[in-house]
Amino acid sequence: MSAFAFQDLTVGYGDGAPVVDGLGLDLAEGAVVALLGANGAGKTTVLRALAGLQPARAGRILLGGRDLARLSAEDRVRAGLSLVPEGRSVVVELTVDENLRLGGLWRHRPKARKAAVEEMYALFPALDRRRRAAGHTLSGGERQMLALARALLARPAVVLLDEPSLGLAPKATAQLLGVLRETAARTGLTVLLAEQNVTGALSVASRGVVLSLGAVAADRPAADLAADPALRHAYLGF
Ligand code: ATP
Repeated sequence: MSAFAFQDLTVGYGDGAPVVDGLGLDLAEGAVVALLGANGAGKTTVLRALAGLQPARAGRILLGGRDLARLSAEDRVRAGLSLVPEGRSVVVELTVDENLRLGGLWRHRPKARKAAVEEMYALFPALDRRRRAAGHTLSGGERQMLALARALLARPAVVLLDEPSLGLAPKATAQLLGVLRETAARTGLTVLLAEQNVTGALSVASRGVVLSLGAVAADRPAADLAADPALRHAYLGF
């Protein structure tokens, strides 16, 4: 596992003004960092650009000292950077087990593949109980867990999560974020968590970064941010 950083990240759509302008962040190995900001602040754009799904106009993306900025999205996953997009990447026609096995296909030895899937069931007991359930019958919380489990199957060094709590009940959110925090602490996984759910995100993150107009408006310890009503009011809309 390695430290993750990006520098001078500039992203825009078409010939429009940049939506993200010269953004940089450093994440220590095993850190859970919340990326906050009002609707339209640019959180999704940052994550998609880091994952290679949205071209960046400039920037370096450093993982373990290597610059991933010119790699394809697929090669970034191979290098250890994994995105769990908003809206969940579950195949609804397949069962939980089939979705996970599909996520583990890149492991060529069937034994290793099975072991990796079982490891995910141990991490997410709620999925273990639903192995044979079809994707379309899962609750929002179960789908989000499955999307996260699929991403973790690749043993990424860094996971980028876009609004995992969207549409989830508070209990499901707490469970999901709890698994993330434990995994980060146990394995050194580095997490960048974009969230509208400020309270939930700051309860698992050690640090919160507030984006406003595509730039960093605040970068502070999570507990500090959570306790600052003026800042919440100014940038987060509540
Ligand atoms: P949300 O929480 O609503 O997803 P966000 O902080 O993730 O907000 P982005 O979705 O990254 O913000 O959007 C940042 C800005 O980029 C917004 O002004 C948005 O209108 C613009 N934008 C996003 N996607 C596109 C697109 N495909 N084409 C043009 N502009 C876009």
